[in-house]
Amino acid sequence: MDKRIATPLTPLIVPRAEHGISRKDISPNALRVLYKLREGGFQGYLVGGAVRDLLVGGHPKDFDVATDATPEQVRSLFRNCRLIGRRFRLAHVVFGREIIEVATFRANTDDGSGDRETEDGGRLLRDNVYGTIEDDAVRRDFTANALYYAIEDFSVRDYCGGYQDCQDRVLRLIGDPVERYREDPVRMLRAARLAAKLGFAIAPDAAAPIPELAPLLSAAPPARLFDECLKMFLAGHAESSFMLLENHGLLPALFPETAVALETNRSGALRAMVLQALRSTDERVAQDKPVTPAFLFAALLWPAYCRELAVMQKAGIDPLVAQQRAADRVTLHQAQRIALPRRFSQPMQEIWLLQPRFAQRVRKRVFRLLSHPRFRAAFDFLELRAGAAPELAADVAFWREAQAQAPEQLAERLDPKAPRRERDPDDLSPEGEGAAPGPKKRRRRRRKPGGGEGGGE
Ligand code: ATP
Ligand code: MG
Repeated sequence: MDKRIATPLTPLIVPRAEHGISRKDISPNALRVLYKLREGGFQGYLVGGAVRDLLVGGHPKDFDVATDATPEQVRSLFRNCRLIGRRFRLAHVVFGREIIEVATFRANTDDGSGDRETEDGGRLLRDNVYGTIEDDAVRRDFTANALYYAIEDFSVRDYCGGYQDCQDRVLRLIGDPVERYREDPVRMLRAARLAAKLGFAIAPDAAAPIPELAPLLSAAPPARLFDECLKMFLAGHAESSFMLLENHGLLPALFPETAVALETNRSGALRAMVLQALRSTDERVAQDKPVTPAFLFAALLWPAYCRELAVMQKAGIDPLVAQQRAADRVTLHQAQRIALPRRFSQPMQEIWLLQPRFAQRVRKRVFRLLSHPRFRAAFDFLELRAGAAPELAADVAFWREAQAQAPEQLAERLDPKAPRRERDPDDLSPEGEGAAPGPKKRRRRRRKPGGGEGGGE
């Protein structure tokens, strides 16, 4: 392989015989778009993540196309085409459920987020102007993301050295890393996410500035960070992404309260629990099982919740009040960073608030909990916690059996008025996690008549 460094002035053209990208690995719809552009007298290239993934033997989840045709010209070629975006127009060519995004070459530093509004905070956003393929290449983030597969001769065109970097499995920023992160701090997260997904190393000069620049992420739009989190944690590489976030000092920027809670948790039980949650999320993704942001965020923010709750318990606040208040505070604080929609934050809170109820054995309450709409998720969460807290094993065993048993049998086993077990079900302080210990013995609370246990069931 040619070892010279590709640059916009001296691009590297890798002929079909030398690279492994075969047309049979490319979506037939993307090929249709490429051929049609060519028939119309335009250039058409597959670009970005798809070329990178195909080069390293992966299966792209979507196929993006770059062209010298303007969006209007693209639209005139395809009946099934709609134009989107305000500041910068993009063409979407729609084939049933598959959308091929066709972008005109451009010479700007757009963040690629789809959110093309002007941002404040001194971030550089030059005017969107159409450009050449060379311009289009250098505005991208990593060299591996700036490769073009040409339909005219099936070659790969490299203007930034990405071909070699793919061979070496390195993520290298195009241009000056500090400048590129300042322009768009989300690139730091993309570095961690793509390194995790691809098993690439982050080049030393791209990794070095991250810990210092990580706080810039607090200026990133929370909705965009939410999207980025879903890509990071629900795409099959959650555990390694999380560890990369930790290693590069990015965790405090995304999950400030969880980061503090993990740091002060001497036993490491909370971290073990989070990693276990991410690992099992990855396993579910690998098996094509559904995964939900509510459960994911319940796990990611559990350390923050436990910490907040411990503080409130220490202050002697009534346990039920403390639980709800801690859940609300953590949710509210986190929303300033990541826009977790209410349809996810609400079930997340329910998962937390149901946890102490697994310590109950009174017949009526057991049945009430079993029929709770969030029971299954909350039980899965209990199992997760038990992985790092062996004292929960008895609860897990009880509830597993309770689910399997016929209701009559279960009812027989249960005392209608069982005494409270030694562990106060309202005491949520994370077992063995070394957070501030709650007051040793509180006065045993009596249920007030009419005051429901879970509140608002
Ligand atoms: P994935 O496989 O996860 O989709 P991707 O690299 O394709 O990874 P996308 O978000 O789909 O990521 O972006 C498509 C392309 O747009 C990237 O390959 C890159 O060339 C460019 N791009 C995306 N985000 C940015 C950014 N923040 N700054 C510069 N270029 C970006
Ligand atoms: Mg992509």
